[in-house]
Amino acid sequence: MAAIRWGLIGATTIGKEWVIGAIRQAGGEVTSIFSRNADRGAAYAKECAIPRSTPDLRALLADVDAVYIATTNERHRDECLAAAAAGRHVLCEKPLATSYAAAAEMVTACRNARVVMGTNHHLRNAATHRAMRVLIQGGEIGRPLAAQVTHGGALPSHLHGWRLKEVGAGAGAIFDLTVHDADLLRFVLSDEPDAVMTMCQNSGLAAPEIEDAAMSVITFRSGLIAQTYDAFTTPYLRTSLAVHGSEGSVVAMDCMAQQPGGSVILDNAKGERRIPLDQENYYARGIRAFHAAIAGVGAPPATGEDGLVSLAVTLAARRSAVTGQAEKVDQVGL
Ligand code: NDP
Repeated sequence: MAAIRWGLIGATTIGKEWVIGAIRQAGGEVTSIFSRNADRGAAYAKECAIPRSTPDLRALLADVDAVYIATTNERHRDECLAAAAAGRHVLCEKPLATSYAAAAEMVTACRNARVVMGTNHHLRNAATHRAMRVLIQGGEIGRPLAAQVTHGGALPSHLHGWRLKEVGAGAGAIFDLTVHDADLLRFVLSDEPDAVMTMCQNSGLAAPEIEDAAMSVITFRSGLIAQTYDAFTTPYLRTSLAVHGSEGSVVAMDCMAQQPGGSVILDNAKGERRIPLDQENYYARGIRAFHAAIAGVGAPPATGEDGLVSLAVTLAARRSAVTGQAEKVDQVGL
């Protein structure tokens, strides 16, 4: 099969730090980049060895097979609809959009255009989380009853832009981090979220109306209760994902990150075991699966529909932070 030709939508940090390399590692080509700002786009193309740059989205769409949309979140909808209308496969960043209606439109448009749509929930690709899913599905912890996600850190200073300041762009820890937790819990537990209760914190890093940390409780259809802590403000925190069941517990440490790593410990009646892990680049693994989906084999690790569910959880969390009540998660019906 000829290499998939990718167009990047947005001259972004995540593209430069992870996704361009991942596309190349997975055998794809990054052939062009769209940026609203022609000069910034040209400089980015030069720095990242991308042959073409353009400030015209239609020009980009004309000569690629797939697009990677990683602009600020309020832009994803229009860019995704344009890509789908041009018949291009879409890998979109999370959260898919800033409203449920917009994300549902995106998923529907890709489905109607018969293009592959993925959501870049990279944490599904982590060896730690894949191992936990297999252990839980294999009954090693009995019936899963509780989960805890600790997903904090220090937001690097070069990312202290729209994430901390621009409500309209989808700022805040919930859209940035809780959205990943929601998807990861669904993946690891093979369960669906039902309702969310959230409390937010502003420690002064983000603008006053924006949360720089949040703690949520998510209930799942099986009855499981999950707790998540998401923060831009806790530099010495060690991330973790723990699932406790009726017959055992499984805990991953240092796992909620972009770089591969972490460990998994399983504890049950057979004793405590460290689980062997086959680590690899999370983003490259995701892009390889996306390429296979384009070739008609399987699906991206997180589909457009998965992105719609994780967005629905974050929207319920944001509502809950305002109402002080548990809020139901919108059920995906397309
Ligand atoms: P950036 O802030 O780097 O870029 C966002 C947009 O801002 C770009 O599309 C670009 O649009 C514009 N832009 C870039 N530089 C400038 C500038 N100097 N002045 C004005 N505008 C500028 O975003 P991130 O890379 O941090 O995040 C992008 C998306 O990726 C978000 O949806 C985020 O949630 C997601 N993300 C996902 C991660 C994951 O692991 N799955 C990790 C990090 C982010 P344009 O070039 O068109 O002007």
